[in-house]
Amino acid sequence: MSKFLINKYQSLEVYTPGEQPKDMEYVKLNTNESPFPPSQGVLDRVSKEELSKLNLYPDPECKLLKDKIANLYGFDSENIFISNGSDEILSFSFMAFCSEEKGAIFPNISYGFYKVYGDLYGVDYTEAPLKDDFTVNVNDYLNTDKTVVIANPNAPTGLSISVEDIENIVKSNPENVVLIDEAYVDFGGKSCVELVRKYDNLLVVRTYSKSRSMAGARLGFAIGSKALIDDLNRIKYSTNPYNINRLTLIAGEAAIDDNDYYVDRCKEIVEIREYSKKKLSELGFTYLDSDTNFIFAKSDKISGEEYYKKLKDNGVLVRHFSNPIITDFVRITVGTRSQMDRLFAETEKILREV
Ligand SMILES: *Cc1c(COP(=O)(O)O)cnc(C)c1O
Repeated sequence: MSKFLINKYQSLEVYTPGEQPKDMEYVKLNTNESPFPPSQGVLDRVSKEELSKLNLYPDPECKLLKDKIANLYGFDSENIFISNGSDEILSFSFMAFCSEEKGAIFPNISYGFYKVYGDLYGVDYTEAPLKDDFTVNVNDYLNTDKTVVIANPNAPTGLSISVEDIENIVKSNPENVVLIDEAYVDFGGKSCVELVRKYDNLLVVRTYSKSRSMAGARLGFAIGSKALIDDLNRIKYSTNPYNINRLTLIAGEAAIDDNDYYVDRCKEIVEIREYSKKKLSELGFTYLDSDTNFIFAKSDKISGEEYYKKLKDNGVLVRHFSNPIITDFVRITVGTRSQMDRLFAETEKILREV
């Protein structure tokens, strides 16, 4: 830290991304990326010709991409906001809809960035405890005076709440924005996006990083009422109007054209997830019932931390969180079948030795 950093940032607890060690080749099951490459259309359209246009700024409106996304989900372009990863929408939303006066509420176990943005923007936030079964306690979010932020399905638990429960939350908070982060919804969860037609306080956030094999392109989008989208645009045009680079824009458009490819890959991941659950049971693990592309699992035979470390020593990366509430668990991203089989082989070896 330099002596120049202003006070309010000095004690900031930053977000810790999943590790990406370079000392050897790992089977990477720690950041919930897709194990599959982008679709052929994406590979074809991000061409040398497009690269040669990088001297030009991208379209700040992202018009073509917005139109395609709007069309896919049956909304108007004015209901769509495009961002540099969905993290940027979260950031903009905390800026736009939360403050010291306007608090936020989110689960105590959820996506780590909510807290970081809350701290960064000086938001008075409340972390509502999950229930003992690790589900979100819906009652905590009814009739609040705060901006509500919920990942559904939640991470790192993988558990969902119903669209009915979300509607009750949205309905009971007409004076507050309700942000539903659907990063994992394409893996078998139920989207609440249809509620956007009925409620002007609901913002649904999606990402290309998980189900659309594009974590490296940094692309996310939100669907909400025109008024909410206008608010996000105020922030965007006051920080970085060209928030999406030309290549990512093109890749994002091509991915929507190839939507069937991604639907199929998600199905494949769900199949591998169910296979993996069975394997984990056979190995004596228990897990929460995942609607996502990861499994939150634990074993009585080995602590979460030791299992994580031993896997890493053997070339397999999973995610472990030190928070005492979930420290018994590891979060395992669902990879390809052969990546998962490698995980199970290493696990068998590790369990034999403990
Ligand atoms: C991965 C993830 C995001 C962020 O994704 P981006 O890569 O920034 O689009 C947001 N929310 C949750 C719950 C996530 O797991």
